[in-house]
Amino acid sequence: MIKHLIDLFFHPGCLICSTPAGAKICEDCRSGIHFIKSPLCTTCGMPFPSKESHDHLCGKCYKKRGPFASVRSVAIYDGILREAIHRFKYNGKTSLAAVFGEMMKASIADHDYDTIVPVPLHRKRLKERGFNQSLLLAKSVAKGLDLPVDYLHLKRVRETSPQVGLTVVEREGNVKGVFRIEGTPFFAAKNVLLIDDVITTGATVAECSRVLKEAGCKRIDVLTLARVVFL
Ligand SMILES: [Zn+2]
Ligand SMILES: [Zn+2]
Repeated sequence: MIKHLIDLFFHPGCLICSTPAGAKICEDCRSGIHFIKSPLCTTCGMPFPSKESHDHLCGKCYKKRGPFASVRSVAIYDGILREAIHRFKYNGKTSLAAVFGEMMKASIADHDYDTIVPVPLHRKRLKERGFNQSLLLAKSVAKGLDLPVDYLHLKRVRETSPQVGLTVVEREGNVKGVFRIEGTPFFAAKNVLLIDDVITTGATVAECSRVLKEAGCKRIDVLTLARVVFL
């Protein structure tokens, strides 16, 4: 009874656009999200513009494999999703983590992960923002998968200048030595799901994966909510 009254006066509505809706994301918003589908690179997850082929290795991964086993992203970083991620990160709309996490969880087929690790923020950035968006996403994904989230051992020890406007090579240089494992290296022989909000060139998740691998991780799969796609 009380729950009905609350629903009547405070209809939860769409978490993205706030219009009353039966679902957490309304039909309009859902159709404005460009979900990434096959064909894509079996390793780095980059979607191919042609819709007429199967998943295969892209030219870049063919030349040089990343330190991760796979990278997958839910949707393209544009339009409604980009606006929603901005509100999530910069306007403190952290309630979006629940719906974003559900979207991410839905894109995981079967898994044998031992732990989830979010891409860490630098202490200073964390202080400014008040939260690590990747940790909120990781916790949301972990909920349904019944997995532990480890955010204490992979650290961002150096601040990076914003990656925007840098070339791929510059980005790779920009993240060198940024991450470090602190404390007991318990990642040894573990399968890790590494979580980030947005992937651009992949330099950040590649560097995190490299550090985790060095610490003895068996396998690292990367999952991000969104991905910048250069078409
Ligand atoms: Zn909506
Ligand atoms: Zn690739």
